[in-house]
Order: sequence, then structure tokens, then C-alpha cells
Amino acid sequence: MKFADIVINRPIEGPFTYSIPGSLKEDVKIGSVVEVSFGNKVVIGYVVGLSDKCDIEKIKPINSLVDKKLCLVPDILELTKWISNYYYSSWGEAISAAVPGVLKKSISGKRHRKEKHEEEIPEFEFIDGSDTHLTPNREQQEALDSIMGSMDAKSHRVFLLHGVTGSGKTEVYLQSIAYALKLGLSSIVLVPEISLTPQTVARFKSRFGDKIAVLHSRLLGSKRASEWHRISSGEAQIVIGARSAIFAPVKNLGLVVVDEEHETSYKQEDAPRYNARDAAIKRAEISKAIVILGSATPSLESFYAAKNGQFTLIELSERIDSRLLPAVDIVDMREEMTRAKKVPIFSQKLREWIEKDIAERKQVILFLNRRGFSTFINCRKCGYVIKCKRCSVSLTYHFDKKKLVCHHCNFNMEPPEICPECNAAYLKYWGLGTEKVESELNRFFPQATIARMDTDSTHKRGSHDKVLSKFKDGNIDIIIGTQMIAKGLDFPKVTLVGVISADTALNLPDFRSAERTFNLLTQVAGRAGRSDLGGRVIIQSYTPHHYSIQAAKTHDYNAFYDKEISLRKELYLPPFCHMVSLTLRGRKEERVFKVSDNLKASLEKEIKSKNIDILGPAPAPISKMKGMYRWNIFLRAKIAEDVTSILKKALDRNKSSGIIITVDVDPS
Ligand code: ADP
Ligand code: ZN
Repeated sequence: MKFADIVINRPIEGPFTYSIPGSLKEDVKIGSVVEVSFGNKVVIGYVVGLSDKCDIEKIKPINSLVDKKLCLVPDILELTKWISNYYYSSWGEAISAAVPGVLKKSISGKRHRKEKHEEEIPEFEFIDGSDTHLTPNREQQEALDSIMGSMDAKSHRVFLLHGVTGSGKTEVYLQSIAYALKLGLSSIVLVPEISLTPQTVARFKSRFGDKIAVLHSRLLGSKRASEWHRISSGEAQIVIGARSAIFAPVKNLGLVVVDEEHETSYKQEDAPRYNARDAAIKRAEISKAIVILGSATPSLESFYAAKNGQFTLIELSERIDSRLLPAVDIVDMREEMTRAKKVPIFSQKLREWIEKDIAERKQVILFLNRRGFSTFINCRKCGYVIKCKRCSVSLTYHFDKKKLVCHHCNFNMEPPEICPECNAAYLKYWGLGTEKVESELNRFFPQATIARMDTDSTHKRGSHDKVLSKFKDGNIDIIIGTQMIAKGLDFPKVTLVGVISADTALNLPDFRSAERTFNLLTQVAGRAGRSDLGGRVIIQSYTPHHYSIQAAKTHDYNAFYDKEISLRKELYLPPFCHMVSLTLRGRKEERVFKVSDNLKASLEKEIKSKNIDILGPAPAPISKMKGMYRWNIFLRAKIAEDVTSILKKALDRNKSSGIIITVDVDPS
């Protein structure tokens, strides 16, 4: 072959044709990674086609081959092609997401020095291959029979494994993986980055030893490259990793496990904006493999698909040790406010329980999903609120740094002493963040040792693990933290979990806010009562009767699902429609609005069926960010394919408008 079709990591479709120099004729194949000149730059390109003829006159040659051994397998090419179509990225961008950047660099020999800060996750005590199968209980056995039967048949099928924490889901994954191994098939296990803790890895390693390769973002440089090669050589047949592990170059894929399938961290925030769960299903379909989606609180999409027979639902209805889920109390903060005649941080009930538990040397976890000290500052005279100059949000006061900080762009400033608007000296600090809860805890419970865990307190490498090991050793009585502490932590001495405000997630302008709230409360509640000491959860709320909070109280996923799914149906929201969210950004608001209007008009012109509707344009919930004005348009359709060509044409027509348009399919 004389010519190669090549795509690159830019938001332009391609492919572009290059000639193959004689010296590379033998080695350039479909899937090869090469260097080419593009414009006046040298960029990485991916070969997606070969041909003998070419009509273009002035054709550039391929500069070089990055690595003879690095060749993308057909499965990955097909998967990335699907991603580029479904999520509206270029094929080159999608392939780039599949080949870790650091790998490309270390292979092309540009960076052979060992990177600074190279760090692996700390080792956790375990013995390779020491762990053996547990005898499955009845429900686990039924699940395994069904999964193994499908593997024997080598037919693609998606299982949704629904069961509370501790119901034995992981044991089902482990035994399914073992069965795949027996059939000579490989497995990929996806976990949210946050659950990729030493404990999780150790559990898999102690069952499968060095057949495991681990891929995660904390793995840097050469270690990442060597794990990649262990996989593509077939030495490691089991891959465990976060989102991008779905692109691992395994051979003979038989099984993909997506643990905590509802997690929003599976959605990538930059192009290509893919959801790793959906990519996992696609990859398994391509390889005729089995998928197991596991969760205690499945996404509405997945549970709906299971109810409709698209997925096979498997329920694990009991905890292995028959331990009861913790009792959940909901405190109506409106009543507390009336009683206290101010806005209290801790209800009387929460205070009493904290006191009691720390007196008994038990441990407490408190949760608040907002960092900082005060979340907004205004002038009591003129009402002026201090906002970020570049974003349409109020600045948060951080006590540690004595600064006002923007949580979107990190802008910070000294807090003014007088109102910038009217010069009055009446600035008042409102709202509640983790720093303030920490300081109030110190005031209320001077006898206790208190630690805070949020991105401010743990941004230094290793400090996160340090706090946790101190907590584990019983040297901390109370931890106050954000989202970060909601997942995965397993500490037997934690008997009390307090949610300072259940309303923060609920009040977000987002159709998934109820789902998020239910998931978060369920997860946080799961941190309590993990031993015979028992457990209690206290949820503080100003909307205590909301169904997401009530369902969390009774640990009733089905009740939540029934209510939420009927609302989604009524409002024509996913999973009842396919949704695409468009964001237009630019420095001049007028211009952003004008282009939004034009884009809508282009869409309307293309739309010929009644099955598609357009919402907006409207200012985005955060209408200005980092100096850019933002407007949204939403498209809703019965099926995804209906939108594709219409949207592509409309985007094409508005592409040189000077306004940045991002497309987010299945926004989360
Ligand atoms: P999940 O993944 O749903 O949280 P796990 O698989 O981690 O549940 O199981 C919870 C606990 O029960 C673990 O300590 C696990 O070792 C144990 N376990 C799981 N299955 C069995 C079984 N069949 N027999 C005995 N113990 C089990
Ligand atoms: Zn800002």
C-alpha cells in the first residue's frame, strides 16, 4: 500500500491522506500510531485506512512510526469510531482518549527520564493468589449460573446486578472473572477512580495474583506503559481501572464489569464526552462479551432498561451477614430553626448523638458537600453580593487562607472590609462550608479530635491516606468531609453518620438532582453500622418530605425509582428521550445569544419529524464562567439516530461563528 488515511487529535473530522515512505512500507498497518506534519506542526496520527491510489497532488509523507509494537486492535478502532459518531467528537479525538498520552510520549522516546513525583498507590497487605472462592449463597449461585451460561454461549448480554453494599456483588464479579479465565477469556473491571483504593486492588490481586494489570490516573510514566504492554502481550488477562481502562488492549475479551455503574465520574467532561458505562456495553457488543453492571442504586437508565428486558436484572436482596442497614432519622431543620431562633448548624438530635458516641469512644462521620467557610458575603446596607469577576457565582470565604475564592476558576482576593459598592462597613458572611462546620465542632466538642477531608485539606499527595489511616487507628473521633468521604470507606467503629444538609444537591437546577440526592444519601448512610456496634444516620433537611430523602430513610430503591420514573415520563426526560445538550461560549454576550439563535434556526430548518424538540436557547445555570458567557440549547428525540445528521449539518453551518460550541450527549 502506498497511502494511509490518518486521523489526528483535533476537532476536525478527516481522515487525511499521507503517503507511506518506502522505509515504512512493511510496518505501517491499520491501527499504527505515526507522526505527521499537519499545518506547520508535527502531530501524532492514527492510521485508519490504507489504499493504493490517491487523487490528491501535493501529498505529504508520514514522518515516522511511533513504535512498531504499538498497533490499535480492530475492536478499539471500531469502538472509537462509534464514540466519535455518538458523542460528536472527531475520530482522532476518540482514539486519543484510548491511547494514554503518557504512553505515546514514553514510547516515542521523548521522555525517558523517570518522571518526578512518580507514585504508585501504596501497597496494601495481601498475598498474591492467596484468596480462594467463597461458597456462593443461593442468590449468588443463581446470578453466576445465568452469567456463566451466557459466557458459554459466547453471546453478548448485559446483566444489571442490583444489591445493597455487602450483598456479595464483588464476589459475583470475582467468580465470573475466574470462569472467564477458565474459558481463556479476558476481563475488564471498571471502577470509579475514587473507589480504586488500595483495598479494592488488594482484593483482586489476592484472588488473581499477577494476572491483574491496574490502570489508573495516579500511575505515571513508565509504569503505565509497562502495564499496557503486559495487557497487549496477553500476560495480564484481567484489567482493573478507571474510565479509560475500557480501551485496554486485551485479547479475547469475555467479560466487562462496571462497578457502581450509576457513578457520574464515568462521564468524561472533555471531548470525547463519553460515558464509560455505555462505551463498555458497546465494546462488549463488538467482542460478543458479557457485561455486568453493578450498583446499590442503579441509574434510572439502566434500571429502566432492565425492566424492559433490554438488560437482565439480577437482584441480591440480602446482606451476606444479614446485618441490618442502619436506622435513618430525618430532622426537620425548619422546626429546629424556629426553636433555636437562628439558623443552626447542628440539630439538637445530631448534637446529642455525637456527644454520646464520642463519649463511648466510637467514631463519627459528618458530611457536607460544600467546602470553604462561608459561601457568600453581602452588604447588609445595599445588598451587594461579592461575586467573581469572571464567573457569575458568589465567592466563598476560606478561613485557612483568609481569602475569598471562586470555586470555578480559582480567582482569589483579600476579603474587603467595606462594601465595594456603597462603602458601608456592614459585610456579612453567610452560608455554610466544611471549614465552618469544623470550627463549630471544635467549639461544641473541645474534647474530641476532629479532622476535615475535602480537596482543600487533601490536595497534597498522601495527606488523604494519612488522615484515613489515623482515623482507622482510632486517633480521630470525628471526620467532616465532602463527597470524598461518601464512598468506599469501611471503618467498623463508625456508628454515627450525620448529613449536615441533604438539600445542597437537591437544589441544583438539574433534572438528575433527585437521583443524585438519593444516591448520595444512600452511599453516605452506608458508612455507618459496618460492625456489631450498629449504626445510625441522621439527615438534616429543610425539605424533609421530598421523596428522595424519604426513600433514603427506608433504604427503598424501588420506591424512589417508581416515583422518579413516573416524573421523568411525565416531563419527557431521559430515559424516555435521548437528550443532547449544546453549550455556546464566547466573550461577548450579544454574540453568544445571536449564534444561539442562529443555531436554533438551523436546527429547526433541518427538523422534519415531530419526534424531535428543541428547548432554549437560555442562559446556562452558571451563565458566565472564566470570562465566557454561556448559553444552552437542549435537543430531545425519541431515538439517538434521529438527531445525528440534523445536528451535524446545523453545527457545520455555524462552525465559523467565532463562538465555541460543545456538544454533550446524555448529559449527566
Ligand atoms: P458488595 O460488593 O455487594 O459490597 P461483597 O462481595 O464485598 O459485597 O461481600 C460483602 C462481604 O461478604 C465481603 O466481606 C465478602 O468477603 C463476604 N462474602 C461475599 N460472598 C460471600 C459468601 N458467599 N460467603 C461468605 N462470605 C461472603
Ligand atoms: Zn471565577
